[in-house]
Amino acid sequence: MTRTDKRVILKAPPKGHIRHGHCWIYRSQIASVDGAPSPGEAVEVLTDKKRFLGTGYYNAASEITVRLLSRQAETPDTAFFARRLTRALEYRRRRSIPSNACRIVSSEADGLPGLIVDRYDEVVVVQFLTMGMERLRPHVLEAIEATLPCRGLYERSDSHSRKIEGLSEKTGWIRRDCASETEVNEAGIRFRVRFEEGHKTGFYLDQRDNRILLAAEAGPPGTALDAFCYEGGFGLHLARAGWRVTGIDIKSENIAQAEVHRALNGIEPERLELRAANVFDELKSFEKAGARFDLVVLDPPSFVKKRDALEGAVSGYKEIVLRSLRLLSDGGRLAVFSCAYHLDETLLLQTCLQAAVDVRRNLKILRFLKQSADHPIVPFIPETYYLKGFLFEAEDTSDPRR
Ligand code: SAH
Repeated sequence: MTRTDKRVILKAPPKGHIRHGHCWIYRSQIASVDGAPSPGEAVEVLTDKKRFLGTGYYNAASEITVRLLSRQAETPDTAFFARRLTRALEYRRRRSIPSNACRIVSSEADGLPGLIVDRYDEVVVVQFLTMGMERLRPHVLEAIEATLPCRGLYERSDSHSRKIEGLSEKTGWIRRDCASETEVNEAGIRFRVRFEEGHKTGFYLDQRDNRILLAAEAGPPGTALDAFCYEGGFGLHLARAGWRVTGIDIKSENIAQAEVHRALNGIEPERLELRAANVFDELKSFEKAGARFDLVVLDPPSFVKKRDALEGAVSGYKEIVLRSLRLLSDGGRLAVFSCAYHLDETLLLQTCLQAAVDVRRNLKILRFLKQSADHPIVPFIPETYYLKGFLFEAEDTSDPRR
């Protein structure tokens, strides 16, 4: 690489997480910065002893001031991105994903901090999350064009994290020779993905494995509640597997799209009843009406973006888990997820146990659940493990015959 005079020198010897592969360097870990790098500019990172540690990009506006791209002295050019993309593609090929939609690059987990690349059939959607990645955009786009043949390339850089980095939102087609929507086929269930309106890059790819798993393993089909159903995700898979499902989402646009999906898959409306409502209210009404379900799926949005909002999120979880347990038939199942990094596996389990104690239910864990295989978990970068869940079986312990 052409060595740069833009350098970041660390205060102390790099500890565990950076040494073993984490790529974040916080402002508090930096002793000095040479060459006045501009926001997003490439830098070399040196240890406190001035030994080379890696190549990254710099942004003083962010608490995470440097993100490392490589442990080599290499320039992040088109060839660099093409190599990383090829490696990421090979990883997915080995996983045999049962869908024509797949996450190809999952930011830090694929050694490309600040970059998301998702493929939906013939359309590729790209998301730039940081100033550094934004500046490398021409190389990224060239590498995508060279490694991922597609008919359309859509940009969905509207993540909230861009604000922290000093970036505004950017969305729209970069290149287009296709319709503005595309169809995803996920283990036989069809979804219309709308790139402009859909959540994330258009769809919840991270729940694919769990949607398929629950339809196969959540028990003999009975009645199910898909709370927080978005555009029908779990409910469609369950209805096809023979369940009678009620799907609830707070946004009527999501319910309207779930109805489109229901028709597209030839599912009778009485097999999948859809309703725009607030889950917190609906759970109370179901209880009042004496409703019973054999399965409840709870997949709420991230109630907690920052650690300081954790307490509120935990009490929200406890409430929905507790109310769901009250609705479950004896031996019924509960699938519960948290997509918030700070509400981790242990805390989620503790919260569920507290709710179970209050309603006198015993829980058995049937399955530990996690994000889909195309969203790799790199344990040296704990933040890459963000979506976790449990499939529980709930027994009624208040029954004196037990
Ligand atoms: N399980 C879905 C993804 C769920 S995303 C899938 O597999 O595709 C979470 C959803 O919860 C969003 O669609 C959001 O609109 C909805 N939501 C948020 N708060 C809600 C509330 N209080 N009641 C009902 N739905 C809510």
